[in-house]
Amino acid sequence: MKYSRVTEAFEELEETQKNLEKTSILAKLFQESEDELEEVVLLTTGTPFPAWKNMDLGVSSKTLVKIISKATGRTEDEVEQAWKEKGDLGLAAEKMVEKKTQQRLFTGELTVEKVVDRLEKVAEMEASGISQSVDQDKKQKELAELISSAEPREARYTARIIINNLRLGVGEGTIRDALAEAFFDGEHAEDIQKAYDFTNDFGEVAEACKEGLESVEELELVLGRPIKSMLAKKVETIEEGFEEVGKPAAIDYKYDGMRAQIHVVDGDVTVFTRRLENVTEQFPDAVKAVEENINADNCIIDTELVGYDPEDGGMIPFQKLSKRIKRKYEIQKLKKEIPVEVRPFDLIYLDEPILERPYSKRWKKLEEIVEEEKESVRLADHRETSNEEEVSEMQQQSLSDGHEGIMMKSLESEYRPGNRVGYMVKLKPVMETLDLAIVGAKWSEGRRSDWLGRLFLGCYDEEKDEYKEVGKMATGLTDEQFQEITGKLKPLITEEDGRKVEVRPEIIVEAEYEEIQKSPNYSSGYALRFPRMKRFREDKEQADTLQRIKKLYQDQS
Ligand code: ATP
Repeated sequence: MKYSRVTEAFEELEETQKNLEKTSILAKLFQESEDELEEVVLLTTGTPFPAWKNMDLGVSSKTLVKIISKATGRTEDEVEQAWKEKGDLGLAAEKMVEKKTQQRLFTGELTVEKVVDRLEKVAEMEASGISQSVDQDKKQKELAELISSAEPREARYTARIIINNLRLGVGEGTIRDALAEAFFDGEHAEDIQKAYDFTNDFGEVAEACKEGLESVEELELVLGRPIKSMLAKKVETIEEGFEEVGKPAAIDYKYDGMRAQIHVVDGDVTVFTRRLENVTEQFPDAVKAVEENINADNCIIDTELVGYDPEDGGMIPFQKLSKRIKRKYEIQKLKKEIPVEVRPFDLIYLDEPILERPYSKRWKKLEEIVEEEKESVRLADHRETSNEEEVSEMQQQSLSDGHEGIMMKSLESEYRPGNRVGYMVKLKPVMETLDLAIVGAKWSEGRRSDWLGRLFLGCYDEEKDEYKEVGKMATGLTDEQFQEITGKLKPLITEEDGRKVEVRPEIIVEAEYEEIQKSPNYSSGYALRFPRMKRFREDKEQADTLQRIKKLYQDQS
C-alpha cells in the first residue's frame, strides 16, 4: 500500500474531533489495507511496534532536528526556527521537505512496507545498543534517508512517529470500533477488545478480524507475552467493598510495592511491569526466588514486588524501589541495597490459561505451587470472610504494619485483563491523590534559570484521547528533584514558547492537593488547589482521567 494513502487518512483524522468520523476514516483505511493491514493498524497507534515487543527508536526531539537537517540539506538552525514558528516538529519537517522538493524533479514513492522496514531496522539497532556513538550516527542516517524520500505530508507524520508523538486523537476504543466497522458491520467490538487485552497487539487482532470472528475468539493469551493487568476500583468503606465484590470475599493486604507479572516458560523466568516492560535483568533476586520457590514449569503469576530493608527487614516504599526499574547498571549493588520480596496474589496460567476460572480456585492453585520462604517468596496475606469486623481488624493491622490498606476481591470472578471492573476493589484511608502527567513546564528565573521550575499537570481525556491541563505545581519539590525533573523533561520537549515549554506526557507524578475547583483557566475545566508532588510513578504510563476528576469533584461537594 502506498504510504501516502495512510498519511492522507492521518490528515483527515487530525481534522475532525468527532469520534464517529474518526472511526469511519479508519475503517475505510483498514479495509483498503489488504496485505499490509497489520502494519497500517499498528501505525495508527503511533508506533509500528506492538507494546509487548518493547521496541522503540530512542530518538529525542533534538536528535530529530539533526535528522531533518541531514535529510533536507537545511541547517539545524533553520529547522529549529521552523519548529519555533510552527510549534511542532512534524510541521517543521514538512516545511523543510517542501523547500527541498521544489528543487527536485521527482520523488520515489514510499510504501508502508518500506517505511515500517526502515523503522524496524532502526529499532533493532537501538535494541542491540552497540557502541553508543556509532549506533547514533547510523540510526540518524537511516532515518534521514527515510525523511528525504518522503513527500511533505509524509514527512510530517514520519517525523512525529519517530519521536513517538503522532497525536491523532485516536485511542484504543476508536481502533477497536474501526475494526468492528471494517470487518463486522460494527458488531463484536467486545470480542475485539477482549482479543486485544489478551494479546496487546492490534496488528494481530486486525489480521484475525480479517479472517473472521472465530479467529478473533481464538486469540488467547500467550505464555511469555505480557497481558494487561486487572485493575482495582476504589471504595470508601468496607460495606461498599462487600457490595461490589459480594460475600464472602477475599481480603488481602495492599502492599506499596511494584506490580509484576511473572511468566515462567519451561522453567525460564521473565518479569514484566504493568507497563509491559521486561525488567527481568533488573530483578535477578525476584527471578531466583521464583526459580527456587514456585513449583511450576509453565505459569503466570500476578504479584507485588515489595522492597525491604536488608538490615531490619522493614518495608521500603515504592518510591525508593522504583529506582530499580530503570537501572541498567550496578544491578547487583542495588539488589543488595533494596532487595525485593515476591508476594504473589493471583495465578492466571498454569500449564494452560486459567483466567476464566473463579478467583477462589485460582488462589487454591497458587497456594499449591508456592513454597513459602520469608524474604524470598510469600503469598500475599489473604483471608476469606464475610465478617466486616474481621475486615476492619485486618485493615488496621495492614496499616500499622506499614502497608497501604486492603484489597477486597470477589471469590467467584474471572481475571479480566486491562479492566477496572469491580472484581477487585481497594480500600485506602488517605485522601485520594491523583496520578497526573507533566504536560508542560516553565524555565525558572534567577538562580535556577537552567531548571524547568513550574510544572503543568494534565489528566487524560478518554473521550478525546488527549491530555488536558488541571493545574501548575511548584511546591513540594527539592532542588534535587527539580534538577532530576529538568533532566527527564528536556528530551520530551515538543514546543517552546518564550519560557514555557510543552512536553510529551510521559512522566507521571502522584500529586496531593487541597481540593478540586471548577476553572476556566485550564483546558480540563478544573483546577487543583495547592497541588504538591508526592512521588514519581515510573510504573505508570497513563495519568488519571478527566472523567475521574469530574467524579472526585462531584463527590467532594
Ligand atoms: P494505587 O495508586 O492505589 O497504587 P494504582 O492506580 O497503582 O493504585 P490500582 O489498580 O488502582 O492501581 O490498585 C491495585 C494495585 O495495588 C495493583 O496494581 C498492585 O500493584 C497493588 N497491590 C498491592 N497489593 C495487592 C494485592 N494483595 N492484590 C492486588 N493488588 C495489590
